[in-house]
Amino acid sequence: MTATPPEPAATPRPTGADRIESVVLSRVDLPLAAPISDAKVLTGRQRPLTSVSMLFAEIRTAEGWEGVGYTYSKRAGGHGQFAHAREIAPELIGEDPSDIQRIWTRLVWAGASVGRSGLATQAVAAIDIALWDLKAKRAGLPLAKLLGAHRDAVACYNTSGGFLSTPLEQVLDNTRAARASGIGGIKIKVGQPDTRADLARVAAVREELGDFPLMVDANQQWNRDTAVRMGRVLEEFDLVWIEEPLDAYDAAGHAALARELATPIATGEMLTSPAEHEELLRHGAVDFLQPDAPRVGGITPFLKIMERGRHAGVRLAPHFAMEIHLHLAAAYEIDPWVEHFDWLDPLFEERLETVDGRMRVPARPGLGITISDQARAWTDQRVRVDGAGTTDLSG
Ligand SMILES: [Mg+2]
Repeated sequence: MTATPPEPAATPRPTGADRIESVVLSRVDLPLAAPISDAKVLTGRQRPLTSVSMLFAEIRTAEGWEGVGYTYSKRAGGHGQFAHAREIAPELIGEDPSDIQRIWTRLVWAGASVGRSGLATQAVAAIDIALWDLKAKRAGLPLAKLLGAHRDAVACYNTSGGFLSTPLEQVLDNTRAARASGIGGIKIKVGQPDTRADLARVAAVREELGDFPLMVDANQQWNRDTAVRMGRVLEEFDLVWIEEPLDAYDAAGHAALARELATPIATGEMLTSPAEHEELLRHGAVDFLQPDAPRVGGITPFLKIMERGRHAGVRLAPHFAMEIHLHLAAAYEIDPWVEHFDWLDPLFEERLETVDGRMRVPARPGLGITISDQARAWTDQRVRVDGAGTTDLSG
């Protein structure tokens, strides 16, 4: 006699029935209100930033679900991200949009000749993020809740008010405005060739803030000796962290500095893969890990970094892209921070809300973002990829 399992009382809806029908890729050149400088400009390594190159992916399925994701680049590489995404996007057509790990792997291998980190995976990131948005929308949940949130709001600090291109009086005004808007912390840039100028700005902002969270960010422009000297002087300012004191790839240097100082060390925003973040954790180089989902190849690799970070016991403060990172930080166990940048606001119809120092996870399904008409107007390249091939929609 052959044993057969009992029939279920009701046949569940078949899973995996949906299929990706099309993806639209758009490159948007987002202008900034004024040229921006951090320490990399003051040391002559980069020009002031005047715009951000955005790559949007909009994915549509046979059942009519839609997902939107983005990646970005500053100064150079944006056209390369768009071109790479355009070449690999045909791999998506006909795939089940729920099988995100398989799709990520397939897209990365499709372009593996130019590497499995950096620009190649950043192009994948826009698609990967759109697939996570789509999956959360299908579930009717904000992405944070699809992932399994620890909290409904995340401690949030302001960065855009404290660049080195901004005179000190304006930084102080920006600080007051940010606090009035409900922000929970203030970060200012340091790393100028004249370290006394840095210290004067930190002292003035600390005096303005009183007992309120303050971070500084040297954007990789100190050498090891300067980082130790500055780190010792900065101890008296009771900083939440010192960010990117050293070259992003100097894991051993960060580890030595972390041992030397009581002030926590933060870094990781420039890294472009989980393997590079693993190197920081292996060295014990950070107190706050700062991955960036668009830069590391999307939410799929970001989740792997989060798991490793939690295991290592470090805190999380993702870089930039708050529309995405708010959801990811909400799902991180150990007291994360999210970085408030208003630069991308014109690209979306919605605004994120910050109350009592914390940014609230929106109740909208998915990431909760809708591309604005302004973003459409700034679009300079646009293609649609579907079963019929690739169609140029530009102009
Ligand atoms: Mg930074």
